[in-house]
Amino acid sequence: MPDIVEIFLKPEHAYDDEEIRKAVVSNKHIRADELTGCHVIRRSIDARKKPIQYFLRVEVFINEPYSLPTYPSLEAKTINPDKAVHIIGFGPAGMFAALKCIELGIKPIVFERGKQVKERRRDLAKLTREHVVNPDSNYCFGEGGAGTYSDGKLYTRSKKRGDLNLVLNTLVKFGAPKTILTDAHPHIGTNKLPLIIENMREFILQNGGDIHFNSKLTDLELENDTISAIHVNNERIPCEQLILATGHSARDIFELLHKKSIAIEAKPFALGVRVEHPQKIIDQIQYKCKDRGDFLPPASYSLVQQVNGRGVYSFCMCPGGIIAPCATDVEEVVVNGWSPSKRDNPYANSGMVVEIKLSDLDIDQYGPLAGVEFQKQIEYKSWLMGGKTQKVPGQRLIDFVQKKTSRDLPKSSYIPGVVSSNLWDVFPDFVAKTLRGGLKAFGKKMPAYYTNDALLHAVESRTSSPVRIPRDKESFQHLKVSNLFPSGEGAGYAGGIVSAAIDGMRCAEATVRVADKSQTAKS
Ligand SMILES: Cc1cc2nc3c(=O)[nH]c(=O)nc-3n(C[C@H](O)[C@H](O)[C@H](O)COP(=O)(O)OP(=O)(O)OC[C@H]3O[C@@H](n4cnc5c(N)ncnc54)[C@H](O)[C@@H]3O)c2cc1C
Repeated sequence: MPDIVEIFLKPEHAYDDEEIRKAVVSNKHIRADELTGCHVIRRSIDARKKPIQYFLRVEVFINEPYSLPTYPSLEAKTINPDKAVHIIGFGPAGMFAALKCIELGIKPIVFERGKQVKERRRDLAKLTREHVVNPDSNYCFGEGGAGTYSDGKLYTRSKKRGDLNLVLNTLVKFGAPKTILTDAHPHIGTNKLPLIIENMREFILQNGGDIHFNSKLTDLELENDTISAIHVNNERIPCEQLILATGHSARDIFELLHKKSIAIEAKPFALGVRVEHPQKIIDQIQYKCKDRGDFLPPASYSLVQQVNGRGVYSFCMCPGGIIAPCATDVEEVVVNGWSPSKRDNPYANSGMVVEIKLSDLDIDQYGPLAGVEFQKQIEYKSWLMGGKTQKVPGQRLIDFVQKKTSRDLPKSSYIPGVVSSNLWDVFPDFVAKTLRGGLKAFGKKMPAYYTNDALLHAVESRTSSPVRIPRDKESFQHLKVSNLFPSGEGAGYAGGIVSAAIDGMRCAEATVRVADKSQTAKS
C-alpha cells in the first residue's frame, strides 16, 4: 500500500523531483533504494513563517512496485449521428458539453457567434490599439468563450471532486501543464489557453461533432412549450434538444428569451472597479520580505468585507497581470484582467466589487432585465467619461476614498489608456460608499495596500450573470420549455471556467436522461 508523506521544501526545490525524493527518504528514515517511486498530489505555499516554504503532500511507494497515477479524462465513443444535441456557445460550458456528448455517443452540433481563436486575436488587437469593438468577436465572445484570453485560474467551490478532476485531467489531455493537477491555486495563462482550445476543437471534429463559427443564434421557434427550431444567422434549423451556453454577456439572448416569454429572472450580482498595484507591493505584503526572489510566484490576495450590511470583495485577482478591455458593444467600457503563464508583468490587478441586491434594481420598470439595465447605465457612463473610446476613467486609490480627482495617474497595464476622473460620478452613491468602506477596511488589514500608487479602473461590471434562466434542479430542463437546457455562467449556474465546464457536462448528461425517459414513455 502506498503511503502519504507531508514534507516542507525550499521554494527552489519544490518542483525538483530529486529534491522531493531526498526529502521523502529523510522523512521516512529509509535508504534511497527502498523508495521505488513517488509523486506529488498537492503543492501549496506556506507563507505563515519565515523562511517561506512549500508544503507538499506526496504519495510514496516503499519496497513495492511503483504505479504511476492515472488521470481519467473525457474520452471518445463512436457517435450515433441520429442522436444530436444542438449547443449554442463554445465557451467552457459549451465545449465541455460537446466533449461529454461525444463520450456519451451523441453528436454535438455547436453554433458559436464568434471566430476561431487565431482570427479572434486580431479583433482583440483592434479593440486594444484602435478602440474598435466587434460585438461578435471580443474578450467575451469567440472560440473558447470568455475563458480563452483569461488568467485561466482554475479554482472552484464545486464540492464534487470527481467532476473537478475530470475537467482538470481533460485540460491536461489537451495540453495544459500537469502542475494544475497538484497546485493549490492552479492556473494556465493566456498564452497557453488558445492551443488547448484548438486541440479540443480538433478532437470534437475528428470524433463526429460539428462546430460552426460566425454563427449566431438569432431566433427560436416554439410549439407547445417546446423548441421546434432555432434560427442561426436567420436560417431555420429544426432542433430536438438545445443546450444554451451563451455566457453572461449575451444580452441579446436574454432579450430574445424574454420576448419569447421563456421565463428568465433577475439575479443579484456584483460590480465595481479593477484595482491595480505594483506587484512588488503585494509581494512585500504577502511574503513579508523586500524581494520575493526567483522562486516564489508573484503573490495574490483575496479580500472580503461587510460595509453596512453589503459585501465588498476582491474578484478574479491576477498577479503579474494585465487589465483588458472587455466591452461587448460599442458604447460601453468594461474591464477585466488576465495574466500569462509566468505572471511576469510588473502589476497585480483585481476586481474590487460591491454586492448588488435585487432591491437595488428597478424591477418594476425593467422586469427580469433590471440587472442588465443597471450594468448598461454604468458602463455607458464610463464610456462617456473615458472620452467615448475604450479609455477608462481612473483614480488613485486614496484620492477615490477622499473624493479627490487625481492630479496625475500612475502607470497602468491597461493599454487603451486611462482618463483621470472622479469615480464617484460613475457609480450610484451606495456603490461608491461601500467601495470606499471596503478599501479603508482592506487598508487596515494590509496597510501597504492602502496607497496612492494603486489605480482604480472603472468599470468591472461582468462578474457574474445579472439574469438566471430557471431550470429544474434534477432534470436541468428549463422550468417551462422542456427541451431547453440552460447552462453555464449566463444561465446563472456557474461562476468561472471550471464550474462552467462542470455544468456543461452535467447538461449533456441531462439531455440523455430526458431523451431516454421520453423514449420509455413512448414505447
Ligand atoms: C478577461 C477575463 C478573464 C477571466 N479570468 C478567469 C479566470 O482566471 N478564471 C476563471 O475561472 N474565470 C475567468 N473568467 C470568467 C470565465 O471566463 C467565465 O466564467 C467562463 O468563460 C464562463 O463560461 P461559459 O461557457 O458559461 O460562458 P462564456 O465563456 O461566456 O461563453 C459563451 C459563449 O457563447 C457565445 N455566444 C453568445 N451569444 C451567442 C449567440 N447568440 N449565438 C452563438 N453563440 C453565442 C459567446 O461568443 C461565447 O463564446 C474571466 C473572464 C474574462 C472576460
